[in-house]
Amino acid sequence: MDDAPHVGTVGVAALPPEPPVLTPDELIARVRSYDPAADVDKIARAYAFAQEMHHGQRRYSGAPYYEHPVTVAGILADLRLDVDTVVTALLHDTVEDTRASFDQVREEFGEDVADLVDGVTKLGQVSRARGAIVNQAENLQKFVLAISRDSRVLLVKLADRLHNMRTLGYVPKPEKRERIARETMDIYAPLARRIGVHRICVELEDLAFRYINPAAYDSVRKRLAAASDQRADAVAEVSSAATRRLLLAGIDARVFGRKKTAYSIWRKLERRAIDFDDLADIYAFRVIVSDMEECYQALGVIHRTWRSVPERFKDFISTPKPNNYRSIHTTVIGPDNCRVEMQIRTEEMDRVAEDGVAAHWRYKDKSYGYDAALAREAGGDPLERIRALVELLEHGGEPEEFLEHAKLEMFSDQVFAFTPRGALIALPQGATALDFAYAVHTAIGDTCVGAKVNGRQVPLRHVLSNGDVVEIIRAATPAPMPGWEDIAVTGRARSAIRRLIRRSQRDEFARIGKAVAEHAFRREGLTMARAQLDDAVARLDVESEEDLFAALGSNRLTGADLLNAVFPGRTREDAAIGADRALIEDETASLFIHGQGLTPGVSVHFAGCCSPIPGDRIMGLLTDGKGVEVHTIDCDTLASVENQQERWLDLGWNLEAGARAISVGRILATVQHARGVLAEIATAVGRSNGNITGLRIINRATDFFDMSFDVEVVDNRHLSQIVAAMRACPSVVSAERARGADPDEERPT
Ligand code: MN
Repeated sequence: MDDAPHVGTVGVAALPPEPPVLTPDELIARVRSYDPAADVDKIARAYAFAQEMHHGQRRYSGAPYYEHPVTVAGILADLRLDVDTVVTALLHDTVEDTRASFDQVREEFGEDVADLVDGVTKLGQVSRARGAIVNQAENLQKFVLAISRDSRVLLVKLADRLHNMRTLGYVPKPEKRERIARETMDIYAPLARRIGVHRICVELEDLAFRYINPAAYDSVRKRLAAASDQRADAVAEVSSAATRRLLLAGIDARVFGRKKTAYSIWRKLERRAIDFDDLADIYAFRVIVSDMEECYQALGVIHRTWRSVPERFKDFISTPKPNNYRSIHTTVIGPDNCRVEMQIRTEEMDRVAEDGVAAHWRYKDKSYGYDAALAREAGGDPLERIRALVELLEHGGEPEEFLEHAKLEMFSDQVFAFTPRGALIALPQGATALDFAYAVHTAIGDTCVGAKVNGRQVPLRHVLSNGDVVEIIRAATPAPMPGWEDIAVTGRARSAIRRLIRRSQRDEFARIGKAVAEHAFRREGLTMARAQLDDAVARLDVESEEDLFAALGSNRLTGADLLNAVFPGRTREDAAIGADRALIEDETASLFIHGQGLTPGVSVHFAGCCSPIPGDRIMGLLTDGKGVEVHTIDCDTLASVENQQERWLDLGWNLEAGARAISVGRILATVQHARGVLAEIATAVGRSNGNITGLRIINRATDFFDMSFDVEVVDNRHLSQIVAAMRACPSVVSAERARGADPDEERPT
């Protein structure tokens, strides 16, 4: 029998047993601990209702189905949410999956609960009806609308997803597991982060990572486990030493170390090499004190006990993060000379940092509920946080387009810049001057031609830094340039640019169409008159004269169609049709050139210095006799001709670039000189679906080798995953994507 291992799946055996489900009394006790006046009868009735309705149904794990809604309710009770939310969790699958009806839920549990259950149910229905991408996008649209009405819908859905992710290993089909894990990584975890429910976000990401990239998950987890075993004594020592020193200074602090998750380590590995032997890279310590004053006192004690690492100190109490995260971060040189990361905060700051919007449920006017005023004060109003998404929704557009934009909006951290008059504009990290223009006003974006940052003229692709003062230089009329869409990173700018391009394309088509119409009339020896056009609009199923011209220009209608509509019964459909076509093709060819920013027939090739791969931001450089050379935007060669901007071309990748082509990326690595090192690296690369096509030893010392690897990849994202996989190998000291020129060698392109 063939017993090859199933690489890339997580076996049921690997799952820890589920904890026993909460009893009604346990669930009620949990709610009573924060809401002593809770309507416990309602909870008990909902528990019994779920048990009765789901009777006979089972989960993939074999457990009775009702254990799922009960566990979801328990997660929400841990977040200290109100009774209606807990009850909604208990009922959330009954209307869809059992004989229970919406009316029945309303009768027995009231209007509020019925509305919440309805919201949660509707979100689920979409995801079953459609194909993967569209349903993901539509799900997200529905979410945003539902959340803007009541954030409890999202909290229930997040808790629901969390329990489903914890038990994902029981789902038999690997494709289904992977699809659910991806949806979790792309939509649910970012949404949880958006509303600040960090506790759920972190667990969702780590679970999703485990199923999306099992090989990476395993290797990081193994290294993490080995490292933390080795460092167990140091962790205990840091905690007790800190507690003791703080107590001596009269501060009664709660100090504990938290192991970082495999996913957070992986993310770091994708950006830079990390040292598993260094405590700061695998553990974070929390110091919880009673008030803000004590936060600063505790900081003083810690800095007097251990030497601090200057560039790692951050005070998010005096300057909170945009999502109102407050804490002091510092890294010190602790026992054994290892770096130790400390986060100092109060109990309340910790609650907001972990639970986000859920931290704002409390007693107000004798009833337990969401305190919107308090949430706003703390910067925690979820509506505020998702406003950018709601704006995108209001502009309509395709679901896929929305998803792409929403992801960008959610994944990026923010950068703050100012208008010349001092108005603050918040943008995602990596935003350009062009994004800034659109963030101020769409009309300003549409007409911008340049920018000054801190008084200095810069190209529109200039990436903004915190505190920049940005002045936008405008033209009289909108003039979108080719490549604008690739310069912009915000969804707002990108969708505005798409609208502008659509509009100017339409204008262009209308202009051509008008010429086609005039031409058709002239051929008949007639002049075009308003009345005739009105007739044609009525007969040809178009909205307006403008619409008619656009249809003619884009060849949806021909000149013959127009004449037939104006002169019904006309029979002469002669060779003149060919003349229409020629006219249209001449005009659209020039449209095509403008849109691409490239002249057909000019040769285009990839520069050897930076070897761009799909996904990289790229620029074209016009060269003498060699056509256009494509460089990555951060390439040194490009920087050396910064003053010759007339040779630069804005370029973008075709949609097919990533899907069809295989590119070769180069990785420079320093590895230990030890037996089996190459096999280990080759395995790691192979598990990430990479293929090593070239290998060179650059430098050979007795203990370490510097090597370069050429690896076939799909895109830049793929390359950074492979770099991360190499960094996770124990004998790899460092690994980086090659960036510089390598003069003594021609690269294959
Ligand atoms: Mn469910």
